[in-house]
Amino acid sequence: FSVPQPQNEPVLNYGPRSVERGALKAALDEARSKVIDIPMYIGDKLVHTGKKLEIRPPHDHKHLLATFHEGDAATVNAAIDAALAAKAAWEEMPWEQRASIFLKAAELLSGPYRAKINAATMLGQSKNAYQAEIDAACEFIDFLRFNVHYMAEIYAQQPPISPKGVWNRVEQRPLEGFVFALTPFNFTAIAGNLPASAAMMGNVVVWKPAYPQIYAANVIMQVFKEAGLPDGVINLIYVDGPVAGEVIFNHHDFAGIHFTGSTKVFQNIWQTIGNNIHKYRTYPRIVGETGGKDFVLAHPSADADVVSTALIRGAFEYQGQKCSAASRAYIPASLWPAVKANVQRDVASIKVGPVEDFGNFVNAVITEASFDKLAKYIDAAKADKSVELVAGGSYDKSQGWFVDPTIIKVDDPYYVTMCEELFGPVLTIYVYEDDKFDELLDIVDKTSIYALTGSIISQDRYAIAKATYALRNSAGNFYINDKPTGAVVGQQPFGGARGSGTNDKAGSALNLQRWVSPRTIKETF
Ligand code: GLU
Repeated sequence: FSVPQPQNEPVLNYGPRSVERGALKAALDEARSKVIDIPMYIGDKLVHTGKKLEIRPPHDHKHLLATFHEGDAATVNAAIDAALAAKAAWEEMPWEQRASIFLKAAELLSGPYRAKINAATMLGQSKNAYQAEIDAACEFIDFLRFNVHYMAEIYAQQPPISPKGVWNRVEQRPLEGFVFALTPFNFTAIAGNLPASAAMMGNVVVWKPAYPQIYAANVIMQVFKEAGLPDGVINLIYVDGPVAGEVIFNHHDFAGIHFTGSTKVFQNIWQTIGNNIHKYRTYPRIVGETGGKDFVLAHPSADADVVSTALIRGAFEYQGQKCSAASRAYIPASLWPAVKANVQRDVASIKVGPVEDFGNFVNAVITEASFDKLAKYIDAAKADKSVELVAGGSYDKSQGWFVDPTIIKVDDPYYVTMCEELFGPVLTIYVYEDDKFDELLDIVDKTSIYALTGSIISQDRYAIAKATYALRNSAGNFYINDKPTGAVVGQQPFGGARGSGTNDKAGSALNLQRWVSPRTIKETF
């Protein structure tokens, strides 16, 4: 097979006098200068229901950025009908033609749309320029290019053996029905990839993004359209979750869900699908990436600077709102004084504020609800005499949903914030006795209700080997001497099991394989 050999999209640096920064600033100004009205995309129609909801930057909630049109059950049915109407022509199209559309989308994102999609992600989701660049530009482009490559690999799989007089072959069919893509606020790349990867394999899709991501989702849809995606292949709707679910999960043609979001929502969906299983033509594919409570485990042999950098970057980049964010850490007593001094110094130097100021490392959390939840956890920790506030601890919602990077130290490895997912810039540290490393491994595994990412920081190969084995089920992405965030497509296939999902590794052939249903054909001569 011959598709372009994928390479990771280089990260641009947006230095003070760079061309990229100029273009990005211009795109930000342009986006802020007008209030756009965002329609839904169903078949060949732009749908305006008149039920308008507002989009405001999380870091500047007095500014109205856009409005969007919310749909209802009828909208969901219309999207399913449009998808099914597009199905026959789409699945008949040779895969190379489908591949071309997504490769062109990658080109558009790499060039003409780069500033626009980054600006949209910065404003709508409160990501700083670097976090937007590695997500909305690089990771999204990588998903598209690498997935086209994996797609070609799947279609080129070795045929089964054919003895004399027989020709055996396997055909990769799209799923029979439509796929529902339910996408998260925290990554524009994931929002684009979940519908795109299913569509690439010949499926038609109904796509419902999380509301705080709609501003960038609209740009994604423009890119897909400009790249030549036929009408109806991906239908983008804004409908309240339960309303959409009621229609989708009762539909005879529901054939699969591609999900990233909370564990609770995913479990409810799974249960609903189970209850409705007799209604479907086929067993639906259920592919989901859910929560995380990701750890950094430092061994006494670790370098204190490596530990501190892993903590600061892992816990506070994008305000800790990555499923992979470091949110619990285990530090040996002998290292704690050095690590503590480092992280206190670093947190003191972190600037918190709006994305328009490129010097701000931490921006706002996504919604007021998230802000309130984090404030509650922080207040509870501050009121608890057994908890030490190591850094941060304040919050302010007058301009935006700003929560300071916060580090607390607890004396119980089962403390609530060592176990529960907070999804914000709050890191909990447990300091252990140096000679209790082995016991600790057991505790880390026991508290890994989620099992997405985790890091071991150590210079002792025996300790690394021991942790790698003892924690084999505690993280689907395991990092040695690094932070637990920032998986790169094509380099570290991403996903976890336990409470973190079905572990069908985003950006891998395994994931794409879920969107086809093979047919074996035996022909006897
Ligand atoms: N892939 C991202 C990372 O490695 C996290 C994805 C997520 O938050 O869902 O940091």
